[in-house]
Amino acid sequence: MRRFTGKTLLIATHNQGKFEEMQHLLEPFGVTVTSAKDHNLPEPDETGTTFVDNARLKAHAAAQATGLPALADDSGIEIDALDKAPGVYTADWAETPSGRDFVMAMTKTHDMLEERQAAHPRAARFCCTLVLAWPDGHDEVFPGVMEGQVVWPMRGDQGHGYDPIFQPDGYDQTFGEMDRWEKNKISHRADATRKLVTIFERA
Ligand code: IMP
Repeated sequence: MRRFTGKTLLIATHNQGKFEEMQHLLEPFGVTVTSAKDHNLPEPDETGTTFVDNARLKAHAAAQATGLPALADDSGIEIDALDKAPGVYTADWAETPSGRDFVMAMTKTHDMLEERQAAHPRAARFCCTLVLAWPDGHDEVFPGVMEGQVVWPMRGDQGHGYDPIFQPDGYDQTFGEMDRWEKNKISHRADATRKLVTIFERA
């Protein structure tokens, strides 16, 4: 596995919530992070059909454009009773002509589960695949997961995306009710990051 020996890492996301989560997770490792927005990078189309395909696409595009090692993630929620949907299309389910609407996406998710009369608990998992790509074309892949269930009604106003309807296994609270620090310790992104950080040299 190739180690990261540089100082600056580009976080190839336009999502401020994800950027801040990753910045917080990488803080202890003395890595300086910069964002896709700082570099005016375009958002590449996520044309892949797997989390790893999409993360690779974003990481390599950013590394090529900036000459910096670039970290990208692709994430989403897989719901067993919906045949693992929305999966890589998790963000797409929230799209509206005026931007993303996650209350709408969570309501749609719940309605589909009700239509299928899905049994409880409604097993689901958040997945996150991190890809670190170097400008020379090399990459390393780090998959992360958090198992849990989809609940209704929505609970909590912390976090982002589908957090209010996801209750991780072993907890009474949804991600939306959890303190950000606590979520960051157990999330799918934390799981992938724990694998990622093995390649950083401590400052
Ligand atoms: P993408 O990785 O940018 O394609 O988007 C993934 C989708 O999954 C977005 O709609 C996110 O809101 C959602 N998602 C990813 N991670 C989380 C999380 O930790 N909580 C809630 N929603 C998430």
